[in-house]
Amino acid sequence: MSTNLVDIVKSAGIVGAGGATFPTHVKIDAEVETVIVNGAECEPLLRVDQQLMTERAADLLVALKAVMDHTKASNGIIGLKKKYVPAIGALRKELVNYPTIKLSIMDNFYPAGDEQTLVYETTGRIVPEGGIPLNVGTLVINVETLLNIYDMMTEEKPVIDKYITLTGCVGRKLTTKVPLGITVREALELAGGPTISDFVIINGGPMMGKIVDIDSYITKGTKGLIVLPKDHYLILSKTRSIRETIKMAGMACMQCSLCTEVCPRHALGHALEPHKLMRIAAYGGTLDNNIDATSAFLCCDCGLCQYACVMDLQPWKFNEILKKELAGKGIKNPHHEQPTKADPFKKDKHFDVHRLISRLGLDEYDKPAPMEKCTKRFTKVNIQLSQHIGAPAQPVVAVGDEVTRGQMIGEIPEGKLSARLFASIDGKVTSVADGKVTIEA
Ligand code: SF4
Ligand code: SF4
Repeated sequence: MSTNLVDIVKSAGIVGAGGATFPTHVKIDAEVETVIVNGAECEPLLRVDQQLMTERAADLLVALKAVMDHTKASNGIIGLKKKYVPAIGALRKELVNYPTIKLSIMDNFYPAGDEQTLVYETTGRIVPEGGIPLNVGTLVINVETLLNIYDMMTEEKPVIDKYITLTGCVGRKLTTKVPLGITVREALELAGGPTISDFVIINGGPMMGKIVDIDSYITKGTKGLIVLPKDHYLILSKTRSIRETIKMAGMACMQCSLCTEVCPRHALGHALEPHKLMRIAAYGGTLDNNIDATSAFLCCDCGLCQYACVMDLQPWKFNEILKKELAGKGIKNPHHEQPTKADPFKKDKHFDVHRLISRLGLDEYDKPAPMEKCTKRFTKVNIQLSQHIGAPAQPVVAVGDEVTRGQMIGEIPEGKLSARLFASIDGKVTSVADGKVTIEA
């Protein structure tokens, strides 16, 4: 099994299911010392991975061992939070059969699931600036991604479904598995639909998720849907214009450096100091030669700086602007230092998730979203050809073709980074246009 795991994963269209959507067959085509399972699920309100680790602990370990064997890793680590008590219990029961795999139990802080933070917390290694876990002999893989590998290894089931948490202002908060390509509206109906009329939907977690249309489609990167009132603080914050962000920086940034104090990348010793970049936002330039706009490339967009800021400013959004502008001028990240030690007070600076939830005004939504089996039969799906990092998949079906659930409908273009796509329901192809394949039962 281990010798051709890359082919198995490639044939199944597996991509990072935590939201990153990087094709997994490319990621695991490496040799590392340690494979780290990202079971942190640090975004508030999401409840997928913590439940999957409880319900499918044995399957997870089979897939993890297969990835370890393939990458010649001598050990495996599952990084998860202390509060995931049922998952810890379920995994510990199975771990007696896996002496080279251990748990690394973390406090409930954000962003514990940031790849570079997770590598440090579980191994003590620091990923270099602008680097990836592979640079320090590690590979980080998400819980659901591993289960997709297990399903392909044992049942030859490619990626056709997605686990998602449905929460916020919905009838009943739940976590379930749905076919790829159904609409956000259909998914929310499984949770009783939105309970308010003037709402906005976030795809992903409240911190890094993006606002989506109710008629958009579920993809391999969808991890959760959060329905919030249109005038909720978080929505107003996410929709604040760039102009407003910059104007507020000029008016209100008092250079207290609290944003830098909480920044997880700064804590790893990376040359990122958001408060200094805010001087550029505030003054449109600066006489301080020590401020290097290119350090914005080191920002992981976790958004924590905003919620540490008493003035509610948005260094992360300004960093996004800087990165876009620099990239537009053909400037690449010049920072590749390898820090030898992290901030000695890093642990004390961990930002507690409960505090974050309060700060975000999400206390009333921080409720369980239990796993439920979806029994609804869907009659139409729209499978987007581009739902992963890399080139869009190339359609291999035409209008009028009959397809069955699990049949390949999109292939990796020759020589490109991409991922295969599969029909998620039985039916007939009714359209291959606008970057998607439509299948109707
Ligand atoms: S952005 Fe906020 S936290 Fe950062 S230096 Fe300015 S006022 Fe302080
Ligand atoms: S979003 Fe803010 S806190 Fe997060 S890495 Fe970027 S600068 Fe640091």
